[in-house]
Amino acid sequence: MKIIMLGAPGAGKGTQAKKIAEKYNIPHISTGDIFRANIKNGTELGKKAKTYMDQGALVPDELVVDLVVDRVAQDDAKNGFVLDGFPRTIPQAEALDAALSKINDKVDYAIDVDVPDENIINRMSGRRACVACGGTYHIVYNPTKTEGICDACGGKLILRDDDQPETVKNRLKVYHEQTQPLIEYYSKKGILKSVDGTQDMAEVFQCIVDILEV
Ligand code: ADP
Ligand code: ADP
Ligand code: ZN
Repeated sequence: MKIIMLGAPGAGKGTQAKKIAEKYNIPHISTGDIFRANIKNGTELGKKAKTYMDQGALVPDELVVDLVVDRVAQDDAKNGFVLDGFPRTIPQAEALDAALSKINDKVDYAIDVDVPDENIINRMSGRRACVACGGTYHIVYNPTKTEGICDACGGKLILRDDDQPETVKNRLKVYHEQTQPLIEYYSKKGILKSVDGTQDMAEVFQCIVDILEV
């Protein structure tokens, strides 16, 4: 089962991707998480990516594509994966398709988590991320047991720099210009599935399970 998650920043891609990965025992591959891990470890890639991420811009395709193509070729991804945050541009989608078709494979589902822009600022300003494990919470919709502390690992929670409202506005603009065209791209391939992302997390997940299990 090879799945990609589409949707605006903050639509709930990561939240749902983690649940899918757990239920179907496939790896959750998040390009945002990969970049943040590189930033934390001070790698060259991390340094380059940070300059774009801080502005709410996309990291250039050439810094992302090889990384993902290598990752999906690893053994644990043979029977499936859920890609979260990739592809974000048409060239990225084409590169993924080309890499998979080389091994006679393809994406099975492109799941679009649909949330209108009005809801996004609220989602993002309440998002809290664990500095230690990358776990994601929301101060209202998915609070931790102890405020500011990760339930999973006890790490400290922060508001990501790029989740500040000014940066979020730019990320939304970038989403509409560069990523939204993927909806048509996958629709033409006949594998686009849309879910209403304004429902609560469990309801969204149930809709996704219904799609995957028909
Ligand atoms: P969100 O979860 O809010 O959608 P991500 O964690 O997926 O955000 O991504 C954070 C940032 O990392 C993006 O704003 C962008 O700068 C960069 N990034 C992540 N994935 C990609 C990608 N596939 N192509 C280009 N940039 C990316
Ligand atoms: P994305 O990966 O698309 O950027 P996230 O999964 O990180 O989005 O979700 C963004 C924020 O919204 C997080 O704080 C998350 O806890 C919260 N969230 C996710 N799904 C829902 C939902 N269905 N209803 C309310 N809040 C949600
Ligand atoms: Zn944690």
